[in-house]
Amino acid sequence: MKSLAKKIWLDGKLLFWQKANVHVLTHALHYGSAVFEGIRFYNTDKGPAIFRLDDHIKRLFYSASVLDMKIPYTKAQIKKAIINTVKSNNLKEGYIRPLVFYGAKSLGLYPKNLPVQVTIIAIPFPKLFAKTTINVKTSSFIRLHPHSTIASAKISGHYVNSILASLEAKKAGYDEALMFDFKGNIAEGSGENFFLVKNNVIKTASLEDILPGITRQSLIKVAVDLGYETDELELTEHDINIADEAFFSGTAAEITPIAKIDNIIINNGKVGGITLQLQEKFYDIVHGLDEKYKEWLTYVK
Ligand code: PMP
Repeated sequence: MKSLAKKIWLDGKLLFWQKANVHVLTHALHYGSAVFEGIRFYNTDKGPAIFRLDDHIKRLFYSASVLDMKIPYTKAQIKKAIINTVKSNNLKEGYIRPLVFYGAKSLGLYPKNLPVQVTIIAIPFPKLFAKTTINVKTSSFIRLHPHSTIASAKISGHYVNSILASLEAKKAGYDEALMFDFKGNIAEGSGENFFLVKNNVIKTASLEDILPGITRQSLIKVAVDLGYETDELELTEHDINIADEAFFSGTAAEITPIAKIDNIIINNGKVGGITLQLQEKFYDIVHGLDEKYKEWLTYVK
């Protein structure tokens, strides 16, 4: 494949893009037995800054522990490797994908004594959605039942559910899917958390069967700091019908305003005032322009 960057970190070494390969017997390729992170870094006055790196590494290790994977590196070593990968690619802004996976040894499902491999990819990554606002389709696929998996872990296999939802939405002419949970409450997008605003209260689905997004948690903190009331609760289709504003949050999606959900047009199809305020604040924070949140940034020097 065409190189998207110069180097990829694989099992302790920085390799040229074309050399970072795995064997076809790789367990994760057959069974989805991998865990990963998506992390963004932004250009600042002091060089590239990685947003909430320690929190992403913490979630990566937690996800690995759910699949009983022993990462053969410490958190500090992974942090250093991530920083080095960004540096060695000479990127100012972009996306980092650490992936931990069960490697190649046998075809059996049970991951006994399998090697645990780690790779770190850093690439340029512009906006996930090229448009200012997106149209969203509620999915016929529900989010994984909380008794079917451990939703708080970012496990590759979970993303088959997301892929089905996103294929369905795109085929119907929408930009993204919104999934419900087994109870019929709003869960999340295929790779984003969901927020809506009603009467100046910023609401999002509670953490039952969704990924606890780092952007979601950051925005709740920022919203409270800005003086807003926030609420984590069960949201239903009715809440969509009466919403003043709606948006997705995520590392890749950042804050993406939603103009339409199925046939419901939100805020006349325009970016809502509170959504815009959060977008602007988030921009300042990730670009190192807001001292108050400077502990969320790791500078690549
Ligand atoms: N939900 C899902 C299913 C995701 O894949 C993501 C992206 N990691 C999110 C929510 C948002 O999480 P974060 O803000 O940590 O990127």
